[in-house]
Amino acid sequence: MMNIISNQKIQTITLSIVVPVHNEEDGLQTLHKKLSHVLGKINCECEIIYVDDGSVDQSVMTIKNLPMLGTTHSLIKLSRNFGKEAAMTAGLKATKGRAAIIIDADLQDPPELIVDMVKKWEEGFDVVNLQRRSRNGETWFKEKSAAVFYKLLNKLSENPIPENVGDFRLISRRVIDEINQLTEKNIYMKGLFVWPGFKQTIIQFDREARFIGDSKWPYSKLFGLAVDGITSFSTKPLQIATYLGALIASSAFIYGLLIIAKTLIFGETVDGFPTIMLAILALGGFQLMSIGLIGAYVGRIYTEVKNRPRYIIEEKFESTSTLKNNLVVITNPKFKHRVEK
Ligand code: UDP
Ligand code: MG
Repeated sequence: MMNIISNQKIQTITLSIVVPVHNEEDGLQTLHKKLSHVLGKINCECEIIYVDDGSVDQSVMTIKNLPMLGTTHSLIKLSRNFGKEAAMTAGLKATKGRAAIIIDADLQDPPELIVDMVKKWEEGFDVVNLQRRSRNGETWFKEKSAAVFYKLLNKLSENPIPENVGDFRLISRRVIDEINQLTEKNIYMKGLFVWPGFKQTIIQFDREARFIGDSKWPYSKLFGLAVDGITSFSTKPLQIATYLGALIASSAFIYGLLIIAKTLIFGETVDGFPTIMLAILALGGFQLMSIGLIGAYVGRIYTEVKNRPRYIIEEKFESTSTLKNNLVVITNPKFKHRVEK
């Protein structure tokens, strides 16, 4: 295995850092400094790829004006907000490294851990997941709902997705290549990194509260992500709906028989209204639920069939550097230079 934590700098890019950015103007400079500092310690040829996911603040300007601090960095500007998953996909496609690390822009994922992740990679792991020990600064409800979601997802899905593992992870080139080949439009990243298999490992860490600004995930979006996560990795909910339907239908049949028997044997008249209401509500509710469930799958098929791109790149910028005598010479610190789309 290559040893990149050595004194010798390597010409080709060894490690790519992908940062999805959505309205993060306030934290970007600190993040850039921290990242560059950590990458300097690793002493490899690294690149940082910022993917702007339709920010409406000054994020793009901030990124373009970031100083070169030893590593090349580039910006991929998406034409609008496509969501974090799309931003990560765009970033991964652009990586040149022999491994990539995805990291949030809000400093909730401590850049210092990159050193440990790279060590694990050198030990031969293809996917290094980071598991949150605590979720500082997150509400009780978010913590509990996340726990319930992971339990449910892992009960339903064939390839278990590790609990409390976010998007902060290292993946090796062969996993990146596998993921880049997939043409799925509704990608649920967390499951996707598990799906290719290879050697996976977990490092535990304490997740900090957001450095600045608010979470970009309202509960409505999180709920959507949860439905995506389940429907993209399991068709069991459809089976469950069928079983539940059969159960309700058979209990209604038995109940019907009971009512007939009661009337015939004991001559009891049946008080109709409550039973009818009960039957209508139970069945109606269940039917709506099943239709919604089927709808979720049909919706997925619909988006796959349309085959639209998952994101559109509006512009790409790259800072260029050349290596001379192991020294990084900055030729274009301010991104004046525009590269092809
Ligand atoms: N993000 C993005 N597109 C979005 C929402 C978020 O690229 O539509 C980025 C955001 O800038 C941050 C990361 O994804 O770098 C995680 O977002 P956030 O902190 O809001 O999520 P949380 O930490 O609450 O899971
Ligand atoms: Mg965050």
